[in-house]
Amino acid sequence: MLEDRAFTARQQLQTDELDAILFWSLPNICYLTGFTGTDGAVLVTADTVFFLTDSRYTTQAKSQVNATEIREYQVKLDGIIALLDELGARRVGFESEIVPVAVWERLQQKSPERLAWVPLGRPLTKLRGRKDASELDLLSEAARLNAAALEEIIPLVRPGASEKAIAFELELALRRRGGEEKAFDFIVASGERGAMPHGVASDKILQPGELVTIDFGTRFRGYHSDETVTLALGEVADDLRRIYDCVLRAHDLALAGAAPGVSLKEVDALARDYIVSCGYGDYFGHGLGHGVGLEVHEYPTASPRSEDLIEEGMVFTIEPGIYVPGLGGVRIEDMVVATPGGCRCLTRIPKEFRILPV
Ligand code: ZN
Ligand code: ZN
Repeated sequence: MLEDRAFTARQQLQTDELDAILFWSLPNICYLTGFTGTDGAVLVTADTVFFLTDSRYTTQAKSQVNATEIREYQVKLDGIIALLDELGARRVGFESEIVPVAVWERLQQKSPERLAWVPLGRPLTKLRGRKDASELDLLSEAARLNAAALEEIIPLVRPGASEKAIAFELELALRRRGGEEKAFDFIVASGERGAMPHGVASDKILQPGELVTIDFGTRFRGYHSDETVTLALGEVADDLRRIYDCVLRAHDLALAGAAPGVSLKEVDALARDYIVSCGYGDYFGHGLGHGVGLEVHEYPTASPRSEDLIEEGMVFTIEPGIYVPGLGGVRIEDMVVATPGGCRCLTRIPKEFRILPV
């Protein structure tokens, strides 16, 4: 499979008449070679995949990395330039939307006269959008960890607990089960704070009668989970329940309509139009979802501005929400994979309205 990925990267060599492509971003490096360390570079030429790293990672690279040749450098940029020099490369593609400007400037300064750097934007993006079977296994496992960890800590989600304590316990539960790292700073937003779509866990104490939105995920062998539940702390007011039912219906409509060939703009509209019809159109300000894989937010995007069509194997989130200032909010998020004729949830936590004992 890694050979297929390098093969696709090589097609770009021909398209742009390049001698090599430099991959700088860790997700792309991991995608091409399997390397999960935090520093390195990959150079793909017509017949060789070079993996470059420093002495901290040489041992790890030898057992983990799928590359034709592993090179060790003392100074990263010098190592890259020396190799390009050795290869006599003249045109080298690079990730122009990812490599920091300062790095690119130094690369240019250090390059021999004959070497031209060719901007490639975000190479591999579309290929990475369609997940293969091995990637789906890892995403599915990351999603399974989410379900198990939430179930473990659910007795702690009670009036009297702080949002931060819940986030912390959830992170621990994920790590205990094999999660490598939290996918992002967890959102735990209760009561009126639920009106903030990105209300990172605070010191606020949960109260009976509130809704609490928990948006969390982990990384498993490089791949991420991302899922949101909104739970009720005892009985909640009718308007909060109405909002919940509206978001859940919007989520279900999008889920039912997502399939290969359908545009992500249309899927966004399935949820959005329903929320508008319930009178909450002003309170759903973000896009419906985003791709998930080696990065938590990656191609494709589901929003009113999205121009992407769903393809089989794409993994993306469906996460409609309603956020009413002064009242509270609801978001429901699942990760799905597009299958022939439809899509399937990778996340497993049931999203029906759930009332926790208080
Ligand atoms: Zn999320
Ligand atoms: Zn998300």
